[in-house]
Amino acid sequence: MALPELAEDLANLARVQSEHPSADGSARLLVTLRDGQAVETVRLPRTACVSTQVGCAVGCVFCMTGRSGLLRQVGSAEIIAQVVLARQQSNAAQGSVHGHG
Ligand code: SF4
Repeated sequence: MALPELAEDLANLARVQSEHPSADGSARLLVTLRDGQAVETVRLPRTACVSTQVGCAVGCVFCMTGRSGLLRQVGSAEIIAQVVLARQQSNAAQGSVHGHG
């Protein structure tokens, strides 16, 4: 598959809606998935933390993510797309996983 087609596939899976950088060099990326749901990917200097769920079933009262409940699991291609999006903006060589979007 040619690179432009891969780029198009990636854009269809996940897009960075907004970026929220911190003074320490990290940045929170609000990532919109194909179905319009949004998750958060965190770009750190050497790694990226990706979301594996949209929402959260735990429901801690102080947390915005928990207010929606668990909406769905994030697909494997969507997880890879989060890593690619983070890497496009840094030299992140590794990925780590956090559960909730
Ligand atoms: S994402 Fe974490 S803090 Fe938020 S509701 Fe789930 S477990 Fe609680």
